[in-house]
Amino acid sequence: MTTVDLELGLKPKDFKSDQEVRWCPGCGDYVVLNAMQSFLPSLGLKRENIVFISGIGCSSRFPYYMNTYGMHSIHGRAPAIATGLAVTRPDLSVWVVTGDGDALSIGGNHLIHALRRNVNLKILLFNNRIYGLTKGQYSPTSETGKLTKSTPMGSLDHPFNPLSLAIGAEATFVARTLDNDRAQLTSILTAAAQHRGSALVEIYQNCPIFNDGAFDVLKEPGEKEQRLIPVEHGQPIRFGPDREHAVLRNDRGGLEIGPYDENRVVVHDAT
Ligand code: SF4
Ligand code: MG
Repeated sequence: MTTVDLELGLKPKDFKSDQEVRWCPGCGDYVVLNAMQSFLPSLGLKRENIVFISGIGCSSRFPYYMNTYGMHSIHGRAPAIATGLAVTRPDLSVWVVTGDGDALSIGGNHLIHALRRNVNLKILLFNNRIYGLTKGQYSPTSETGKLTKSTPMGSLDHPFNPLSLAIGAEATFVARTLDNDRAQLTSILTAAAQHRGSALVEIYQNCPIFNDGAFDVLKEPGEKEQRLIPVEHGQPIRFGPDREHAVLRNDRGGLEIGPYDENRVVVHDAT
């Protein structure tokens, strides 16, 4: 943190630290960082009341680049450290920055317990379906059959759907968005910040070095509804003028979010 500024009326540049941003050129993390720095002034909070806590991974460099308080912590443990802070300092806005490896492999246990406890945390899960920092091994969200350095004959594992996991832990707010849709990302950050309790925001994030184009199909207009759906527990979501979403049972018996379908709906508001 370079300065502590007590006045409000902050600008996006006030949330940029003096650190050189050191992600690869074209990394989706840049977009999320810029969106966050542009969005934070709208909260009207002092910088010293905002905290970013990360684990280990490419996205976990996030706290260095924010001119707020922050902590680059240990692998998978950011939700646990953030839980301690959030329960002792409820006046703070506490954000967790994590990735698919950090949150869903070594940190899976911490993630689900933070969600079930409904700690007042906003968890940003950067999902690039790969281990980027360690140079391209398959992760818990890599698709079956994926060829990587650690799966030279193709991954055998069925991937986690992070939102299904969160819904299974009875998270009170879940959402998914895409790094290159700045407007959508900002609207979800706003909704998450306003939510009192745990909010899990999955962000499909391109890794142009080790998993380039993994989410390109989701940039098509017709696919948009599959990726962006904020849901507060027990409530159907109205997304757009005539579209409603809900938590649904998928073909594998797991949970997903999609357009309302009364034959598959699991959680909805009967009112
Ligand atoms: Fe971004 Fe991938 Fe480079 Fe990591 S390895 S900084 S995720 S582009
Ligand atoms: Mg990753």
